[in-house]
Amino acid sequence: MNKLRLQAFKEATSRRPQSVEQPSEKISEFYGQNVFSKYVMMEYLPAEAYKSVMEAIEKGVKIDRSIADQVASAMKDWAISKNATHYTHWFQPLTGATAEKHDAFIDPIPGGKVIERFAGHLLVQQEPDASSFPNGGIRNTFEARGYTAWDPTSPAFIIDKTLCIPTIFVAYTGEALDNKTPLLRALHAVDEAAVSVCQYFDKNVSKVNASLGWEQEYFLIELAFYNVRPDLIQTGRTLFGHSSPKGQQLDDHYFGSIPPRAQAFMRDFENESLKLGIPITTRHNEVAPNQFECAPVYEEANLSVDHNSLLMDLMEKVARRHNFKVLLHEKPFAGFNGSGKHNNWSLTTNTGKNLLSPGKTPKSNLQFLTFFINTIKAVYENSDLLRASIASSSNDHRLGANEAPPAIMSVFIGSQLTRVLNELETKLKGGKMSPEDKTDLKLNVVGKIPDVLLDNTDRNRTSPFAFTGNKFEFRAVGSLANCSLPMTVLNTIIADQLNAFKIEVDDLIDSSLSKDEAIFQVLKSYIKSSKPIRFEGDGYSELWIKEAAKRGLSNIKSTPYALDLLVSDKAKSVFSDNNVLSELELKARYEVYLEEYQLKIQIEAKVLTDLVKNHVIPSAVRYQSLLVKNVKNLQDILSDQDFKAASKEQISMIIELSNVMNSLITKINEMIGVCNKSDSHSKVEFRAKKYADNVCPYFDVIRCYTDKLELLVDDEMWPLPKYREMLLTS
Ligand code: ADP
Ligand code: MG
Repeated sequence: MNKLRLQAFKEATSRRPQSVEQPSEKISEFYGQNVFSKYVMMEYLPAEAYKSVMEAIEKGVKIDRSIADQVASAMKDWAISKNATHYTHWFQPLTGATAEKHDAFIDPIPGGKVIERFAGHLLVQQEPDASSFPNGGIRNTFEARGYTAWDPTSPAFIIDKTLCIPTIFVAYTGEALDNKTPLLRALHAVDEAAVSVCQYFDKNVSKVNASLGWEQEYFLIELAFYNVRPDLIQTGRTLFGHSSPKGQQLDDHYFGSIPPRAQAFMRDFENESLKLGIPITTRHNEVAPNQFECAPVYEEANLSVDHNSLLMDLMEKVARRHNFKVLLHEKPFAGFNGSGKHNNWSLTTNTGKNLLSPGKTPKSNLQFLTFFINTIKAVYENSDLLRASIASSSNDHRLGANEAPPAIMSVFIGSQLTRVLNELETKLKGGKMSPEDKTDLKLNVVGKIPDVLLDNTDRNRTSPFAFTGNKFEFRAVGSLANCSLPMTVLNTIIADQLNAFKIEVDDLIDSSLSKDEAIFQVLKSYIKSSKPIRFEGDGYSELWIKEAAKRGLSNIKSTPYALDLLVSDKAKSVFSDNNVLSELELKARYEVYLEEYQLKIQIEAKVLTDLVKNHVIPSAVRYQSLLVKNVKNLQDILSDQDFKAASKEQISMIIELSNVMNSLITKINEMIGVCNKSDSHSKVEFRAKKYADNVCPYFDVIRCYTDKLELLVDDEMWPLPKYREMLLTS
């Protein structure tokens, strides 16, 4: 083995499970101990301030400055009691990562001393020196400054010795520069729209929260291997690597027993998560070797999105303690399953009702059907926007790759609900209904939806958007993604759809239909019109691709083209009508995402070039020289005839090595040429598309040659850890 690789191998294989300091208390005793929760607030805040914060959380009421001072001071006292020394506004710029800038609590006082102080204005708003965060031109056009502002709906927490305060990040003129701002606006929109539709069924509903429960998949590999794979370090994925003979074909990893070292790591990051109030509950092996999943109990969507971002950070940090590297990329290893992040979504009322869960009475079932059918209709009308919301260079590897949801958006609802929708469609006649028809419909269709669909809904793992008993599961979200964009889009399109529904139903009521008749009529028209989006079959099959095309559903495989859907006229009006993103904000995001895509592909091309020219080719040349030397030696000691026989295969290997190296270098040079040509486009939109269309195809071709060389070259000389080492050791 090459020296570096051998060193890594020795390091990786000699590791023992790290001992984890297991808290001595029960989980319930340390859960949320590092969170400035409602309970902590109750203890630390004067009654008036507590009430004010609760009103801000529940009703969005503004907190005034004197109350902010009290909250800040209480936060500081609590944080100091937990040994915190610094605070930071914690926000989510459009880089996909979280950002923080720490400041100490201290304030100088006369006499060269300091006291610990944290004033309300520092809690409420800050101006980070954030000029280098991506902004899509917004801050150049308007104002150079960006502000972070406290989001009281997501509680502050302590990591290490720093109090982290979740904030939004906006331009001086109010435009969103982050992921959280539009999410909060979308959650507000869906709240208002859903509450107003709920009034048809229950006047007590005054607030509807969107819930999110994500399932985070990831790979775990030895840090030692990661450190000697520049492609993993720079791009998050392996750009080449021959598949190992034993991969995932035996299906022996899925739900198998978790290796001890991995388990120690999981226990450790779970404890850290639990202390931060992330209700993590589930852990298991996934399909590919070294692939795992964790999931929490679902929470209010804004909090859940924050918790997912926090968890991704935590996992990375804790993994280092265990000499592991967490790979969150959607496709770190070719030939093995990729990773996703299923987003389970539902709507819950202040009265405790899940609007996507059937009830026990026809009335509550009609409410369920209303939200259920409106969701299907929203996805049908805006499937392109949903597709755009999950677009990224890394998720492109996964979507449609025969193991992940296809890039075609469709909705799976299962046979029982399909039957209900079919019956509703056929039994309903237009206009006014006879009392008999109404009773029949209520008792025999609506009343017959089993109140527990959960255990007996059929599951279809190939659907990108599936109903699973009491929630929809958006499965096409990537493992590396911040959930906020898909959640922003989903909640916005639902809000838009519910508003349209309300108008249609009210119009029918005005034209003398009863409320139930009106609701039934509109639902029936939705069942009919949104049928093309419903698909119950195998989403991975070729047949579906053809069928979807016939139905007029889009199948967009690469990110820059998917992103175009974000700025279509329809998208613009959906976002602006619901006050989620203005046209300017949308355009800015479009540019940021395109730029990110193009830069990531460009980095991959550069790393690939470097690896091929500086690692792969030199190793192959060295091995070829060895063969050449050996052939020459044979010639020295053998007769002509014996030499011919003895050297025949070695000479073909020498020639094969030359051929593969030639092809490889040719392709690399061609790719560099195409990159340079693409870079000459001044508009990012063109650049990104050129990279997608003309650069990306080289990756697979080049990989084919390098993987061939990996099989030809002496194992001892191969410079990079192989798949069989990285994936099957821990
Ligand atoms: P799987 O999809 O793997 O079968 P589960 O059905 O147990 O797993 O659910 C997975 C995720 O769905 C969990 O994170 C869970 O908290 C979340 N979930 C369950 N109910 C809801 C709901 N009403 N709204 C949103 N998420 C939910
Ligand atoms: Mg799931």
